[in-house]
Amino acid sequence: MSKSTSSFLTTEPSDLIRAANLLRQGESVALPTETVYGLAANALNPEAVRKIFTIKGRPLIDPLIVHVADFTSLQQVAEYDSRLEKIKSFWPGPLTVVLRRKSNVPDLVTAGKTTVAVRIPAHPVFRQVIELSGCPLAAPSANPFGYVSPTRPQHVADSLGNRCPWIVDGGPCQYGLESTILDLSSPDKVRLLRFGPITVEQLEEKLGKIEIVTRQENQAEAALAPGMLDRHYSPHTPIKLIARGADLPSPSDKTAYLLLSRRLTLPTSENIFYLSESGLTAEAAPQLFALLRQLDQQGFALIWAELAEPQGIGLAFNDRLTRAAAR
Ligand code: AMP
Ligand code: MG
Repeated sequence: MSKSTSSFLTTEPSDLIRAANLLRQGESVALPTETVYGLAANALNPEAVRKIFTIKGRPLIDPLIVHVADFTSLQQVAEYDSRLEKIKSFWPGPLTVVLRRKSNVPDLVTAGKTTVAVRIPAHPVFRQVIELSGCPLAAPSANPFGYVSPTRPQHVADSLGNRCPWIVDGGPCQYGLESTILDLSSPDKVRLLRFGPITVEQLEEKLGKIEIVTRQENQAEAALAPGMLDRHYSPHTPIKLIARGADLPSPSDKTAYLLLSRRLTLPTSENIFYLSESGLTAEAAPQLFALLRQLDQQGFALIWAELAEPQGIGLAFNDRLTRAAAR
């Protein structure tokens, strides 16, 4: 079954049942999560999972995250690890954990690895669809590989168009940044693979010192071409970074400025965009991808973007902005 245009489904029970039925039949459906919109498919059906890679233009060497409803279902796809007890309180929520895989998980999902990335998401719509479908759902961000992740349903339609036939409209995403990824696959190491909404501070409080894996190390381990995942979350417009609170480089008509909050010292200008009123990173972060997409459509030659304080959620914010600026 395929359609020529994408259609929006509501979060009414009848539409969620429809989405769940489509997933059970091996189709791919875009769903809201608390992080970004995901392009979901039945994680145990290789044909369904293949559609995700095709729709996104994602290389098969880049493994997917499997979303499950609860801790019991998690153990149907991943081996139990006693360290999970210490971090269970972050679930349901924006935390992904890499564990040893069970043999029922298709190679396509894990890129042939002996490990699988799993998450118990919090978004009530996503949870209902998992439960109605009865399937663990593989779901990367619902955007073309390498572009800025979608945080609103229209973003999915804008960038995937009719390649993604069904989009469940759950409104804007709460965090607007992808999940934190923690690697527990080796028994004596705890490694952070990606900064996200669950912060290093929060994780270290439960687990002790965590090793932070740099993007370069991560790429080397995954045998990816240099820069392949560096250049991620990237708009087409070039981006340059400025430190929090730094003076703005000289203005020009063709240059946009993306700042964490309003600065009283600056004149009002059509080229200055603010991510929040308060300047708190937690309030600015959910707007980042939406503003990057908006500025990308406005034809600026360059975007100067302000980094956050490098702590808490600011580490995830800065990571995404730095990757968006990578060329
Ligand atoms: P996303 O594209 O946001 O869904 O995130 C998926 C990312 O999770 C991949 O690009 C990998 O960096 C990471 N990942 C998924 N599965 C694994 C795995 N088995 N081992 C290590 N990293 C993984
Ligand atoms: Mg992605």
